[in-house]
Amino acid sequence: MHSNILNTYNRLPISFSHGIGVWLHSTNGEKYFDALCGIAVTGLGHNNKRFNLALKNQIDKGIHYSNLFRINEQEALAEKLAEISDLSGVFFCNSGCEANEAAIKLARLFGSKNNIKNPTIIVFDDSFHGRTMATLSATSSRKAQKGFEPLLSGFLRMPKNEISKIEKLDNSSIVAILLEPIQGEGGIKHFDNEFLSQLKLICEQKNWLFIADEVQCGMGRTGYWWSSKQNGVLPDVLTSAKGLGNGFPIGACLTSSKFNNIFEPGNHGSTFGGNPLACVASLETIKIIEDEELLDNAKIQGEKIINQLTSEYKGNSKIKEIRGAGLMIGIEFHEDCSNINKIALENNVIINITSNNTLRLLPPLIINDQESDFLVDKIIKIINKH
Ligand SMILES: *Cc1c(COP(=O)(O)O)cnc(C)c1O
Repeated sequence: MHSNILNTYNRLPISFSHGIGVWLHSTNGEKYFDALCGIAVTGLGHNNKRFNLALKNQIDKGIHYSNLFRINEQEALAEKLAEISDLSGVFFCNSGCEANEAAIKLARLFGSKNNIKNPTIIVFDDSFHGRTMATLSATSSRKAQKGFEPLLSGFLRMPKNEISKIEKLDNSSIVAILLEPIQGEGGIKHFDNEFLSQLKLICEQKNWLFIADEVQCGMGRTGYWWSSKQNGVLPDVLTSAKGLGNGFPIGACLTSSKFNNIFEPGNHGSTFGGNPLACVASLETIKIIEDEELLDNAKIQGEKIINQLTSEYKGNSKIKEIRGAGLMIGIEFHEDCSNINKIALENNVIINITSNNTLRLLPPLIINDQESDFLVDKIIKIINKH
C-alpha cells in the first residue's frame, strides 16, 4: 500500500478507530484485547472518561504558554511527582529519550563542575535508553546503533549483576551509572536486588549519580510507582515518560535534593516541555491511579497472570521462563518466537515480542479479574498454536 510515512517501523496491517477500556476497535470492525498499551503507555485503558474530561477542561483554558513564565500546572505536577518519588527536583520534556538526555547532560555537568575531564557513565548489557544520538550511544543494541557512527563517547558498558567488575573499575572519569531497574526492550530482564543495593552504595561512596531509567517500568507498571522502590533503592535521578501522561506526550527527569542545583538557566530547556495540557494529563493520570488503587490492582492482577501462566507451562519444552513484576510480564521461549505476534492478532489480542524470544505483556493497570482471566486463556491458546 502507498504511504508517505518513512519506513522506520514494520507496521502491522491494522488501524484503529477507537478504544474502550482494555479494548481497541479496528477500522474493519474487529475488536482486540490490548495487552500492550502502546508499549506501557495507556495504563488507564482507552477512552477513560475522567482523564478525557480533565484534558477537555484544560484545552478550554490554554494548551501552551512558555517556560519563560511560571506555569502553575507544572508546579502542581512537580509537587505531586516529588511526593510519589521521594525526590524533589523535576525537569519536564516530551519523551523518554529526552528525559534520559536531560539525565545524561545533568551527569556530565555534575562531573564538569567537579573538574572531571571526559565524564563517563556506566551503562549495562541489554539496555535500551532511546533513539537520539546520546541515548542511542547509551543503548546496548549494536543493531540499533549500526550505521549511525560516530556514536557519542563517554559510556562504559558493563555486564549485569557482577558487582566485583564495577568495584574493580579504576576510572576517575566515571560520574554516574544509568540502568533500567527492569529492562523492557532487552526482554523483561531484572537486576538482582543485592546488585542494585551494592551499586547504590558504591555510588554514594564514589560520588556517582545513580540514574534509574523508569521510562517503561515506572508509573505503576510493576505495582509500585517506581520499580526501583520495589528494589528498595532510591535513585539520585529518575527518568519517566511512557505511562506518565497515559498517552499524552510528556517526559520528566527527577532529581534528589543534592542534585537540584546542577542545572542553571541556559544549561537545558525544552519549548514544549511541561506545557499546561501535558501537565494536567499527567497529574490526572496520577490521581486516577491513586483514587482507583491501581498500584494494588497491578500487583494483584500481575501476580495472578504470572502464577496461572507459570503453572500452565511448568516443565513445558517451548518455554524457558516466565517472569515479571506487576503488569510488566515476559514469557521467554527457548527459540525465536517472532511469529507469535501474527497468531495473537488472528486471536484478537495485541501483544509484542521483545528481543526476538520474549512475549511481552503490558496490559492496562485497570485490568479487572474477569479481563485478566480472559487474557490468560487467550495467551495459552496463542502459545499452543505456535
Ligand atoms: C521507550 C523507552 C525509552 C525511550 O522513550 P521514547 O519516548 O520512545 O523516546 C527510553 N528508555 C526506556 C527504558 C524505554 O522503554
